[in-house]
Amino acid sequence: GFKPASRIASIGVSKILQIGARAAAMKRDGLPVIILGAGEPDFDTPDNVKQAAKAAIDRGETKYTALDGTPELKKAIAAKFLRENGVDYALDEVTVGTGAKQILFNAFMASINPGDEVIIPTPYWTSYSDIVEICGGVPVLIPCDATAGFRLKAEQLEQAITEKTRWVLLNSPSNPSGAAYGEADYRPLLDVLLRYPHVWLMVDDMYEHIVYDGFSFVTPVALEPKLKARALTINGVSKAYAMTGWRIGYAGGPKALIKAMAVIQSQATSCPSSVSQAASVEALNGPQDFLKERQESFKRRRDLVVAALNAIPGIDCRTPEGAFYTFAGCGGLIGRKTPAGRTIETDADFTDYLLEVAHVAVVPGSAFGLSPYFRISYATSEAELKEALKHIAEACAKLA
Ligand code: PLP
Repeated sequence: GFKPASRIASIGVSKILQIGARAAAMKRDGLPVIILGAGEPDFDTPDNVKQAAKAAIDRGETKYTALDGTPELKKAIAAKFLRENGVDYALDEVTVGTGAKQILFNAFMASINPGDEVIIPTPYWTSYSDIVEICGGVPVLIPCDATAGFRLKAEQLEQAITEKTRWVLLNSPSNPSGAAYGEADYRPLLDVLLRYPHVWLMVDDMYEHIVYDGFSFVTPVALEPKLKARALTINGVSKAYAMTGWRIGYAGGPKALIKAMAVIQSQATSCPSSVSQAASVEALNGPQDFLKERQESFKRRRDLVVAALNAIPGIDCRTPEGAFYTFAGCGGLIGRKTPAGRTIETDADFTDYLLEVAHVAVVPGSAFGLSPYFRISYATSEAELKEALKHIAEACAKLA
Protein backbone atom coordinates (compact mmCIF):
# COMPACT_ATOMS: atom_id res chain seq x y z
CA GLY A 1 0.00 0.00 0.00
CA PHE A 2 0.87 3.66 -0.08
CA LYS A 3 3.29 4.92 2.54
CA PRO A 4 3.41 8.70 2.99
CA ALA A 5 6.74 10.50 3.21
CA SER A 6 8.13 11.02 6.69
CA ARG A 7 7.88 14.79 6.29
CA ILE A 8 4.08 14.57 6.48
CA ALA A 9 3.86 11.66 8.92
CA SER A 10 2.93 13.86 11.86
CA ILE A 11 0.52 16.05 9.90
CA GLY A 12 -3.05 14.82 9.84
CA VAL A 13 -5.97 16.21 7.85
CA SER A 14 -6.85 19.50 9.46
CA LYS A 15 -9.52 19.32 12.17
CA ILE A 16 -11.20 22.31 10.51
CA LEU A 17 -11.64 20.36 7.28
CA GLN A 18 -12.87 17.27 9.18
CA ILE A 19 -15.55 19.29 10.97
CA GLY A 20 -16.52 21.02 7.74
CA ALA A 21 -16.91 17.65 5.98
CA ARG A 22 -19.01 16.26 8.82
CA ALA A 23 -21.23 19.36 8.92
CA ALA A 24 -21.67 19.26 5.13
CA ALA A 25 -22.69 15.58 5.34
CA MET A 26 -25.27 16.38 8.05
CA LYS A 27 -26.61 19.17 5.83
CA ARG A 28 -26.96 16.76 2.92
CA ASP A 29 -28.97 14.48 5.23
CA GLY A 30 -31.42 17.37 5.63
CA LEU A 31 -30.31 18.67 9.05
CA PRO A 32 -30.35 22.49 9.39
CA VAL A 33 -26.65 22.84 10.18
CA ILE A 34 -25.14 26.32 10.48
CA ILE A 35 -21.42 26.35 9.69
CA LEU A 36 -19.41 28.99 11.56
CA GLY A 37 -16.11 27.47 10.54
CA ALA A 38 -15.14 29.11 7.27
CA GLY A 39 -12.26 31.59 7.19
CA GLU A 40 -13.58 33.74 4.39
CA PRO A 41 -15.73 36.86 4.12
CA ASP A 42 -19.29 36.30 2.89
CA PHE A 43 -19.05 39.50 0.77
CA ASP A 44 -18.55 39.39 -2.97
CA THR A 45 -15.35 40.47 -4.74
CA PRO A 46 -15.83 44.19 -5.63
CA ASP A 47 -17.17 44.86 -9.12
CA ASN A 48 -14.26 47.01 -10.28
CA VAL A 49 -11.93 44.10 -9.47
CA LYS A 50 -14.03 41.64 -11.49
CA GLN A 51 -14.11 44.08 -14.41
CA ALA A 52 -10.32 44.42 -14.31
CA ALA A 53 -9.99 40.64 -14.55
CA LYS A 54 -12.34 40.51 -17.54
CA ALA A 55 -10.43 43.32 -19.24
CA ALA A 56 -7.15 41.45 -18.66
CA ILE A 57 -8.58 38.34 -20.31
CA ASP A 58 -9.76 40.42 -23.28
CA ARG A 59 -6.30 41.98 -23.61
CA GLY A 60 -4.84 38.49 -23.83
CA GLU A 61 -3.12 38.52 -20.45
CA THR A 62 -3.61 34.79 -20.19
CA LYS A 63 -0.03 33.55 -20.35
CA TYR A 64 2.79 32.93 -17.85
CA THR A 65 3.88 36.13 -16.17
CA ALA A 66 7.14 37.19 -14.56
CA LEU A 67 8.11 34.53 -11.98
CA ASP A 68 7.20 36.29 -8.74
CA GLY A 69 4.73 38.92 -9.93
CA THR A 70 4.04 41.27 -12.83
CA PRO A 71 5.77 44.68 -12.69
CA GLU A 72 2.32 46.32 -12.49
CA LEU A 73 1.32 44.29 -9.43
CA LYS A 74 4.70 44.73 -7.73
CA LYS A 75 4.34 48.49 -8.23
CA ALA A 76 0.83 48.43 -6.76
CA ILE A 77 2.10 46.43 -3.77
CA ALA A 78 5.09 48.72 -3.17
CA ALA A 79 2.71 51.71 -3.35
CA LYS A 80 0.37 50.02 -0.86
CA PHE A 81 3.20 49.35 1.61
CA LEU A 82 4.27 52.98 1.40
CA ARG A 83 0.76 54.52 1.49
CA GLU A 84 -0.80 52.34 4.19
CA ASN A 85 2.16 51.16 6.24
CA GLY A 86 4.84 53.79 5.74
CA VAL A 87 7.31 51.14 4.63
CA ASP A 88 9.39 51.64 1.49
CA TYR A 89 10.08 48.42 -0.47
CA ALA A 90 11.83 48.46 -3.86
CA LEU A 91 10.32 46.26 -6.58
CA ASP A 92 13.00 43.60 -6.06
CA GLU A 93 12.01 43.49 -2.39
CA VAL A 94 8.44 42.48 -3.29
CA THR A 95 7.17 38.98 -4.12
CA VAL A 96 3.77 37.68 -5.24
CA GLY A 97 2.54 34.13 -4.72
CA THR A 98 -0.54 31.96 -5.07
CA GLY A 99 -2.05 33.14 -1.79
CA ALA A 100 -0.29 34.20 1.38
CA LYS A 101 -0.15 30.49 2.12
CA GLN A 102 2.30 29.98 -0.73
CA ILE A 103 4.29 32.99 0.44
CA LEU A 104 4.69 31.32 3.86
CA PHE A 105 5.61 28.07 2.17
CA ASN A 106 8.17 29.73 -0.13
CA ALA A 107 9.71 31.62 2.77
CA PHE A 108 10.12 28.57 5.02
CA MET A 109 11.26 26.29 2.18
CA ALA A 110 13.84 28.87 1.20
CA SER A 111 15.20 29.50 4.70
CA ILE A 112 14.80 26.52 7.01
CA ASN A 113 17.40 23.79 7.49
CA PRO A 114 16.48 20.58 9.34
CA GLY A 115 16.06 21.32 13.04
CA ASP A 116 15.76 25.09 12.70
CA GLU A 117 13.23 26.51 15.14
CA VAL A 118 10.30 28.81 14.46
CA ILE A 119 8.70 30.52 17.44
CA ILE A 120 4.90 30.64 17.07
CA PRO A 121 2.62 32.28 19.65
CA THR A 122 -0.35 30.01 20.40
CA PRO A 123 -3.25 29.89 19.50
CA TYR A 124 -1.98 30.01 15.92
CA TRP A 125 -3.34 29.51 12.43
CA THR A 126 -2.92 25.73 11.99
CA SER A 127 -1.02 26.05 8.72
CA TYR A 128 1.92 27.79 10.41
CA SER A 129 3.12 24.77 12.33
CA ASP A 130 2.26 22.31 9.56
CA ILE A 131 4.19 24.27 6.92
CA VAL A 132 7.19 24.62 9.25
CA GLU A 133 7.16 20.85 9.82
CA ILE A 134 6.84 20.04 6.13
CA CYS A 135 9.91 22.22 5.58
CA GLY A 136 11.87 20.26 8.20
CA GLY A 137 11.67 22.93 10.89
CA VAL A 138 10.62 22.67 14.51
CA PRO A 139 7.63 24.77 15.61
CA VAL A 140 8.20 26.20 19.09
CA LEU A 141 4.70 26.87 20.39
CA ILE A 142 4.33 29.48 23.13
CA PRO A 143 0.96 29.52 24.92
CA CYS A 144 -0.63 32.99 25.10
CA ASP A 145 -4.04 32.65 26.73
CA ALA A 146 -6.99 35.01 27.12
CA THR A 147 -5.60 36.60 30.29
CA ALA A 148 -2.55 37.66 28.22
CA GLY A 149 -4.89 39.03 25.56
CA PHE A 150 -3.67 36.13 23.38
CA ARG A 151 -0.47 38.12 22.86
CA LEU A 152 3.15 37.05 23.22
CA LYS A 153 5.11 38.77 25.98
CA ALA A 154 8.72 39.94 25.68
CA GLU A 155 9.90 37.59 28.49
CA GLN A 156 8.27 34.62 26.78
CA LEU A 157 9.94 35.51 23.50
CA GLU A 158 13.35 35.93 25.08
CA GLN A 159 13.07 32.60 26.93
CA ALA A 160 12.11 30.79 23.74
CA ILE A 161 15.04 32.03 21.66
CA THR A 162 17.88 29.51 21.19
CA GLU A 163 20.85 29.25 18.83
CA LYS A 164 18.59 27.31 16.51
CA THR A 165 15.88 29.96 16.31
CA ARG A 166 15.46 31.02 12.69
CA TRP A 167 12.16 32.91 12.79
CA VAL A 168 9.54 34.40 15.06
CA LEU A 169 6.14 34.41 13.39
CA LEU A 170 3.62 37.04 14.50
CA ASN A 171 0.06 37.43 13.21
CA SER A 172 -1.98 40.54 13.98
CA PRO A 173 -4.97 40.65 13.91
CA SER A 174 -4.89 36.96 14.63
CA ASN A 175 -6.64 33.97 13.24
CA PRO A 176 -8.06 32.39 15.45
CA SER A 177 -8.13 34.82 18.40
CA GLY A 178 -8.88 38.15 16.69
CA ALA A 179 -6.31 39.73 19.02
CA ALA A 180 -4.11 42.43 17.55
CA TYR A 181 -0.80 44.00 18.59
CA GLY A 182 -0.76 47.77 18.93
CA GLU A 183 2.45 49.77 18.99
CA ALA A 184 2.78 49.33 22.77
CA ASP A 185 2.37 45.56 22.44
CA TYR A 186 4.95 45.27 19.67
CA ARG A 187 7.64 47.55 21.12
CA PRO A 188 9.01 45.25 23.85
CA LEU A 189 9.06 42.30 21.42
CA LEU A 190 10.99 44.30 18.83
CA ASP A 191 13.46 45.38 21.51
CA VAL A 192 14.13 41.72 22.29
CA LEU A 193 14.65 40.96 18.60
CA LEU A 194 17.15 43.80 18.28
CA ARG A 195 19.31 41.95 20.82
CA TYR A 196 19.25 38.68 18.81
CA PRO A 197 20.49 39.45 15.32
CA HIS A 198 20.32 35.81 14.18
CA VAL A 199 16.54 35.73 14.62
CA TRP A 200 14.35 36.83 11.71
CA LEU A 201 10.84 38.20 12.01
CA MET A 202 7.93 37.03 9.87
CA VAL A 203 4.69 38.98 10.23
CA ASP A 204 1.33 38.02 8.78
CA ASP A 205 -0.77 41.18 8.33
CA MET A 206 -3.53 39.41 6.42
CA TYR A 207 -6.34 40.92 8.53
CA GLU A 208 -4.92 44.47 8.57
CA HIS A 209 -8.11 46.00 7.16
CA ILE A 210 -10.49 44.24 9.52
CA VAL A 211 -10.06 46.11 12.84
CA TYR A 212 -12.58 47.73 15.18
CA ASP A 213 -13.17 50.52 17.69
CA GLY A 214 -10.56 52.76 16.12
CA PHE A 215 -7.75 50.23 16.66
CA SER A 216 -4.65 51.64 15.02
CA PHE A 217 -2.99 48.97 12.89
CA VAL A 218 0.81 49.01 12.68
CA THR A 219 3.31 46.67 11.10
CA PRO A 220 6.58 45.97 12.95
CA VAL A 221 8.99 47.10 10.21
CA ALA A 222 7.34 50.56 10.28
CA LEU A 223 7.93 50.72 14.05
CA GLU A 224 11.49 49.44 13.94
CA PRO A 225 13.26 50.08 10.60
CA LYS A 226 16.41 48.37 11.98
CA LEU A 227 14.56 45.06 11.65
CA LYS A 228 13.70 45.59 7.98
CA ALA A 229 16.86 43.78 6.82
CA ARG A 230 15.68 40.58 8.55
CA ALA A 231 11.89 40.77 8.36
CA LEU A 232 9.29 39.47 5.96
CA THR A 233 5.99 41.39 5.91
CA ILE A 234 3.22 39.18 4.52
CA ASN A 235 -0.17 40.36 3.32
CA GLY A 236 -2.72 39.50 0.64
CA VAL A 237 -5.98 40.35 -1.05
CA SER A 238 -7.98 37.33 0.18
CA LYS A 239 -9.60 38.75 3.29
CA ALA A 240 -9.64 42.54 2.73
CA TYR A 241 -11.06 42.36 -0.80
CA ALA A 242 -13.08 39.15 -0.42
CA MET A 243 -10.81 37.45 -3.00
CA THR A 244 -10.03 34.08 -1.36
CA GLY A 245 -10.58 32.17 -4.59
CA TRP A 246 -8.31 34.36 -6.71
CA ARG A 247 -5.26 33.08 -4.78
CA ILE A 248 -2.99 36.10 -4.58
CA GLY A 249 -0.76 36.86 -1.60
CA TYR A 250 2.37 38.97 -1.37
CA ALA A 251 5.23 40.07 0.84
CA GLY A 252 7.98 42.61 1.24
CA GLY A 253 11.42 41.65 2.50
CA PRO A 254 15.17 41.79 1.90
CA LYS A 255 16.23 41.13 -1.68
CA ALA A 256 18.23 37.96 -0.97
CA LEU A 257 15.29 36.30 0.77
CA ILE A 258 12.87 37.40 -1.95
CA LYS A 259 15.21 35.88 -4.57
CA ALA A 260 15.49 32.58 -2.67
CA MET A 261 11.68 32.44 -2.38
CA ALA A 262 11.45 32.87 -6.17
CA VAL A 263 13.66 29.78 -6.61
CA ILE A 264 11.08 27.71 -4.71
CA GLN A 265 8.17 29.26 -6.59
CA SER A 266 9.87 28.67 -9.95
CA GLN A 267 9.72 24.90 -9.35
CA ALA A 268 6.28 24.89 -7.74
CA THR A 269 3.95 27.08 -9.81
CA SER A 270 6.13 29.12 -12.27
CA CYS A 271 4.04 32.22 -11.43
CA PRO A 272 0.73 33.25 -9.87
CA SER A 273 -2.37 33.39 -12.11
CA SER A 274 -2.07 36.19 -14.70
CA VAL A 275 -5.76 37.12 -14.50
CA SER A 276 -5.75 37.19 -10.69
CA GLN A 277 -2.69 39.43 -10.71
CA ALA A 278 -4.44 41.94 -12.99
CA ALA A 279 -7.47 41.85 -10.66
CA SER A 280 -5.22 42.44 -7.64
CA VAL A 281 -3.67 45.53 -9.26
CA GLU A 282 -7.17 47.03 -9.37
CA ALA A 283 -7.95 45.88 -5.81
CA LEU A 284 -4.87 47.69 -4.46
CA ASN A 285 -4.97 50.78 -6.72
CA GLY A 286 -8.76 51.20 -6.95
CA PRO A 287 -11.26 52.76 -4.50
CA GLN A 288 -10.82 51.64 -0.89
CA ASP A 289 -13.90 53.21 0.72
CA PHE A 290 -15.93 49.97 0.78
CA LEU A 291 -13.44 48.59 3.33
CA LYS A 292 -14.92 50.91 5.98
CA GLU A 293 -18.49 49.79 5.25
CA ARG A 294 -17.54 46.14 5.47
CA GLN A 295 -15.70 46.85 8.71
CA GLU A 296 -18.89 48.34 10.16
CA SER A 297 -20.83 45.28 9.16
CA PHE A 298 -18.23 42.94 10.68
CA LYS A 299 -18.24 45.01 13.87
CA ARG A 300 -22.02 44.61 14.32
CA ARG A 301 -21.60 40.87 13.96
CA ARG A 302 -18.67 40.78 16.37
CA ASP A 303 -20.65 42.67 19.01
CA LEU A 304 -23.64 40.40 18.56
CA VAL A 305 -21.54 37.22 18.92
CA VAL A 306 -19.43 38.43 21.87
CA ALA A 307 -22.53 39.56 23.81
CA ALA A 308 -24.44 36.34 23.10
CA LEU A 309 -21.46 34.16 24.11
CA ASN A 310 -20.82 36.04 27.35
CA ALA A 311 -24.51 35.65 28.27
CA ILE A 312 -24.00 31.85 28.39
CA PRO A 313 -22.89 30.59 31.83
CA GLY A 314 -19.57 28.73 31.51
CA ILE A 315 -18.44 30.61 28.38
CA ASP A 316 -16.09 33.58 28.50
CA CYS A 317 -15.33 35.61 25.39
CA ARG A 318 -12.72 38.35 25.13
CA THR A 319 -13.65 41.15 22.72
CA PRO A 320 -11.31 40.84 19.73
CA GLU A 321 -9.67 43.88 18.13
CA GLY A 322 -9.87 42.53 14.60
CA ALA A 323 -10.32 39.73 12.04
CA PHE A 324 -13.68 37.94 11.96
CA TYR A 325 -13.23 35.36 14.68
CA THR A 326 -14.06 34.99 18.35
CA PHE A 327 -12.00 32.61 20.47
CA ALA A 328 -14.09 32.02 23.56
CA GLY A 329 -13.11 30.01 26.62
CA CYS A 330 -15.33 27.04 27.46
CA GLY A 331 -13.47 25.95 30.60
CA GLY A 332 -16.65 26.46 32.65
CA LEU A 333 -18.37 23.66 30.74
CA ILE A 334 -15.62 21.05 31.01
CA GLY A 335 -16.72 18.21 33.32
CA ARG A 336 -20.43 18.76 32.64
CA LYS A 337 -22.71 15.96 31.37
CA THR A 338 -24.71 15.89 28.14
CA PRO A 339 -28.36 14.68 28.19
CA ALA A 340 -27.06 11.44 26.60
CA GLY A 341 -24.85 10.95 29.68
CA ARG A 342 -21.48 11.74 28.10
CA THR A 343 -19.01 13.95 29.95
CA ILE A 344 -17.56 16.99 28.16
CA GLU A 345 -13.85 16.38 28.79
CA THR A 346 -12.25 18.56 26.14
CA ASP A 347 -13.08 21.51 23.90
CA ALA A 348 -13.36 19.02 21.02
CA ASP A 349 -16.03 17.11 23.02
CA PHE A 350 -17.84 20.43 23.43
CA THR A 351 -17.72 21.33 19.73
CA ASP A 352 -18.82 17.78 18.80
CA TYR A 353 -21.75 18.23 21.16
CA LEU A 354 -22.63 21.59 19.58
CA LEU A 355 -22.61 20.03 16.13
CA GLU A 356 -24.78 17.08 17.20
CA VAL A 357 -27.28 18.91 19.40
CA ALA A 358 -27.23 22.59 18.34
CA HIS A 359 -26.43 21.78 14.71
CA VAL A 360 -23.78 24.48 14.75
CA ALA A 361 -20.26 23.79 13.44
CA VAL A 362 -17.44 25.59 15.25
CA VAL A 363 -13.77 24.67 15.67
CA PRO A 364 -12.19 23.54 18.98
CA GLY A 365 -9.21 25.44 20.36
CA SER A 366 -7.15 22.24 20.17
CA ALA A 367 -7.07 22.73 16.38
CA PHE A 368 -5.16 25.97 17.04
CA GLY A 369 -2.96 24.62 19.82
CA LEU A 370 -4.77 26.12 22.84
CA SER A 371 -7.53 24.62 25.01
CA PRO A 372 -10.19 24.86 26.31
CA TYR A 373 -11.50 27.33 23.74
CA PHE A 374 -13.55 27.31 20.54
CA ARG A 375 -13.44 29.51 17.47
CA ILE A 376 -16.46 31.05 15.78
CA SER A 377 -16.05 32.66 12.38
CA TYR A 378 -18.67 35.42 12.21
CA ALA A 379 -18.25 36.13 8.51
CA THR A 380 -21.87 35.17 7.94
CA SER A 381 -25.26 36.95 8.08
CA GLU A 382 -26.55 38.46 11.33
CA ALA A 383 -29.74 36.38 10.99
CA GLU A 384 -27.73 33.16 10.79
CA LEU A 385 -25.48 34.22 13.67
CA LYS A 386 -28.49 34.98 15.91
CA GLU A 387 -30.03 31.62 15.10
CA ALA A 388 -26.74 29.80 15.75
CA LEU A 389 -26.10 31.56 19.07
CA LYS A 390 -29.65 30.79 20.22
CA HIS A 391 -29.08 27.10 19.52
CA ILE A 392 -25.68 27.16 21.24
CA ALA A 393 -27.23 28.74 24.35
CA GLU A 394 -30.03 26.14 24.40
CA ALA A 395 -27.55 23.28 24.03
CA CYS A 396 -25.39 24.66 26.86
CA ALA A 397 -28.46 24.98 29.09
CA LYS A 398 -29.04 21.25 28.66
CA LEU A 399 -25.66 20.36 30.18
CA ALA A 400 -25.92 19.01 33.71
N1 PLP B 1 -2.80 34.12 7.11
C1 PLP B 1 -3.84 33.95 7.93
C2 PLP B 1 -3.72 34.41 9.34
C3 PLP B 1 -5.02 33.35 7.46
O1 PLP B 1 -6.06 33.19 8.29
C4 PLP B 1 -5.09 32.92 6.13
C5 PLP B 1 -6.29 32.23 5.60
O2 PLP B 1 -7.10 31.69 6.31
C6 PLP B 1 -3.97 33.12 5.31
C7 PLP B 1 -2.84 33.72 5.83
C8 PLP B 1 -3.90 32.63 3.89
O3 PLP B 1 -4.56 33.40 2.99
P1 PLP B 1 -4.43 33.19 1.43
O4 PLP B 1 -3.60 31.99 1.18
O5 PLP B 1 -5.83 33.03 0.95
O6 PLP B 1 -3.79 34.44 0.91
